Amino acid sequence: MLNKKISKILIGTNNIGKLTEIKALLPKSLKIYSTKDFKLKSPSENGKSFLENSLIKAKFFSEKSKLICLADDSGLQIDILNGAPGIYSSRWGGNKGNFNLAIKKVYKKLDKIDKNWRFKKIKANFICALTIYYPTKKIIQSVGKVNGFISIKKKGKKGFGYDPIFIPKRSNKTFAQMNPKKKYSMDHRYLAFKKIKKLF
Ligand code: IMP
Repeated sequence: MLNKKISKILIGTNNIGKLTEIKALLPKSLKIYSTKDFKLKSPSENGKSFLENSLIKAKFFSEKSKLICLADDSGLQIDILNGAPGIYSSRWGGNKGNFNLAIKKVYKKLDKIDKNWRFKKIKANFICALTIYYPTKKIIQSVGKVNGFISIKKKGKKGFGYDPIFIPKRSNKTFAQMNPKKKYSMDHRYLAFKKIKKLF
């Protein structure tokens, strides 16, 4: 049976940077609700993977709002840090979501593991796991990943989170130096969305 197209959806995030980006990826004809419309706080993300955490959020917000909910869980994974900060990407910014603090922590960990890391190409990737959760309990999931490197210093003022230190493969600019439209057309969230586009 063909899936009925989704006409309205709640975006399950309280992160403004993400909300903006997700809205830009969805068709204009879609009625979009945000967690603010329902005054909903985020649930604690105690899953063990990006997919599990995106499911926790989508299920929570869908059950609260009785709407179909789309939630993502995303983060930065750095190879020589064994994938850290990974699912803890947001938590490295402390409870105030201070991204400067999170970036300082990345540099501190890199200095600790290899004091010559600035002379090497430090491989990293951004990953995004999406879950769409229906009030009928139906679940649809997808994952997108973009590979790249860690910049030896913060560059650019656009974007959010770790954007100033992530240089995607085949580019010489960090995500924070790029025009947002350019970033949205190549990043992990875009790649995950591409796989579920037919639902809208
Ligand atoms: P969560 O998915 O809400 O747990 O948060 C993911 C965290 O990963 C964000 O708070 C950012 O620190 C980081 N992150 C995820 N996607 C991006 C991105 O596109 N640019 C920069 N940082 C990101």
